[in-house]
Amino acid sequence: MLTDCHWHTARCGHAAGEMGEYLERAESLGLAVTGFSDHLPQYFLAPSERDPGLAMAEEELPRYVAAVRELQKSHPFLRLGVEADYIPGREKELADILAAYPFDYVIGSVHYIDGWEFDHPDKKAPYREHDLLDLYRRYFELVARSAQSGLFDVIAHPDLIKKFGFRPVADLTGIYRETARTLAASDVCVEVNTAGLAYPAMEIYPAPGFLTLCREYGVPASLGSDAHAPEQVGRWFDRARELLKKAGYTRLAVFKQRKRDYVEI
Ligand code: ZN
Ligand code: FE
Ligand code: FE
Ligand code: ZN
Repeated sequence: MLTDCHWHTARCGHAAGEMGEYLERAESLGLAVTGFSDHLPQYFLAPSERDPGLAMAEEELPRYVAAVRELQKSHPFLRLGVEADYIPGREKELADILAAYPFDYVIGSVHYIDGWEFDHPDKKAPYREHDLLDLYRRYFELVARSAQSGLFDVIAHPDLIKKFGFRPVADLTGIYRETARTLAASDVCVEVNTAGLAYPAMEIYPAPGFLTLCREYGVPASLGSDAHAPEQVGRWFDRARELLKKAGYTRLAVFKQRKRDYVEI
């Protein structure tokens, strides 16, 4: 059985479809456990600087929670998650927001390097202006800090920095090993996220060698399509299953009220 615990909704401004359509698609695929994990409001920006095309507005958050709660009445295997940006120095603010809602799980994402939104298609210039290995080091340092923050159950797309295909000519094994060790020591899950196949990276997040090291260090894995439309639910999961198997995973982590449980693959 597979699970898909990374879905967005139209509330974030860049996803489409009705929430019920995501669930219908999941049922047709026979997914065991599912979850919405829409983008948390941009708590780290002043309200006037927030982009309605990137994350839900603050007043939408209680409505999002209520909408998932309502759907859970008819869909017992649906969980309430959220995807939150990790910004060093803003941990306390994030903790306060998260504590105000009954989330089943929180996915932590590094989408910013020192204010640069490196996964935005219109902001690729810095990849050409900086040493790629330096950028990768800085990125993975933030991934490690996000894990160590203790705020998250799952670390999303843990090598998102490869999204646009900018890859340093270097062996990344040492960085992967260090990151896997930190994820294990922090007791967080690594997310296998198939959305990387839709971009120039042309690869699931994380890279096979990185996932194998996560397995070696005992980091549990969770699975997500990062669907921004109903037809993307469960996308490329045959390839995810193969990747997980090759890395040695036999089960997937799922969460209820921030407690981890497992589904056999
Ligand atoms: Zn999104
Ligand atoms: Fe993300
Ligand atoms: Fe996402
Ligand atoms: Zn994501």
